[in-house]
Amino acid sequence: MDLLQLVRPNILSLTPYSSARSEFKGQADVFLDANENPFENGLNRYPDPLQKALKARISELKGVAADQIFLGNGSDEAIDLLVRIFCEPGKDSILTLPPTYGMYQVAADIAGVAVREVSLAPDFQPDVAAILAAADSRTKILFLCSPNNPTGNDMRPEAIRQLATDFPGIVVVDEAYIDFSAQPSTIALLKDFPNLVVLQTFSKAWGMAGIRLGMAFASRAIIDLFNKVKPPYNINQLTQEKALEALRDPSRKEEMVQQILAERAQLVAALQHLPFVKHIYPSDANFVLVRVSDPNALYRYLVGQGIIVRNRHAVHLCAGSLRVTVGTREENRALITALQEAPNPEKTLS
Ligand code: PMP
Repeated sequence: MDLLQLVRPNILSLTPYSSARSEFKGQADVFLDANENPFENGLNRYPDPLQKALKARISELKGVAADQIFLGNGSDEAIDLLVRIFCEPGKDSILTLPPTYGMYQVAADIAGVAVREVSLAPDFQPDVAAILAAADSRTKILFLCSPNNPTGNDMRPEAIRQLATDFPGIVVVDEAYIDFSAQPSTIALLKDFPNLVVLQTFSKAWGMAGIRLGMAFASRAIIDLFNKVKPPYNINQLTQEKALEALRDPSRKEEMVQQILAERAQLVAALQHLPFVKHIYPSDANFVLVRVSDPNALYRYLVGQGIIVRNRHAVHLCAGSLRVTVGTREENRALITALQEAPNPEKTLS
């Protein structure tokens, strides 16, 4: 596959914005190049546009070369840029596998790019043959989400590998929840697949949704394209500092993951005893999808109790379901207590 054939012509020929800070390499003491305010307060200078210190640390941790890493304002920025790099509005399409994360569709809708959909199978695994049959030469990007949101399951590694091999475009594996999964990251496949993009984030296991930092791992050719189109200073100084601080002690993330997994097991055990819980889908993530007898009534009841879960009743293949994030022990107890106290649930909630 010729990767560059997939890129929009205007992006291939684009002269990217050259920021003051990216033009200069070497040593200097006086910076009068960027129209900054000279009075030091720790934030008066523009941040490193390529986030070199942060990427060096992420490179060590993930075993991926720094020039194979793009950092975005959340992985949502990476999703948006991918659509804008590869998809010509009005001509190209992306392919998604509903039920899945909603931003792939929204990014395509904003860009004026069509969305083809191939439903996940009833076991929430990708239907490889149907996906390949649905793609044509203008279907530029396939979005896989593993573990998948909102269903919580890993995608089979053989299916991911086969799609990376046979799909005639860019294959994105969104691994926002990978730290909670026992399955290894698709990052290991990067060396074999120049068309593969793996997305991860600081928003989930790292506990830093507030700093907005997402990672994309891919071939150098794809990372170069990200760097060409991204806003020059897309990762602010505070975010870069906070992330570096968290990366100094990755064991803290691992501790939180272990705690969340233990809490998930307790939550599932408690949910199983509730009469209106019909099915709890197995989860490889930090949330569980739960099918109940009357999801809308139960959702409203919980809101009345000051507890907000995500109502997925209207979502393809998720009828009857609520998606519940695993919280702290106290938060999970509050949820379970509220559910146990639902007065005559079968009746009140129907
Ligand atoms: N991918 C998936 C599957 C998600 O569920 C989310 C957030 N809910 C994101 C990406 C976006 O994450 P970020 O905070 O890094 O933008």
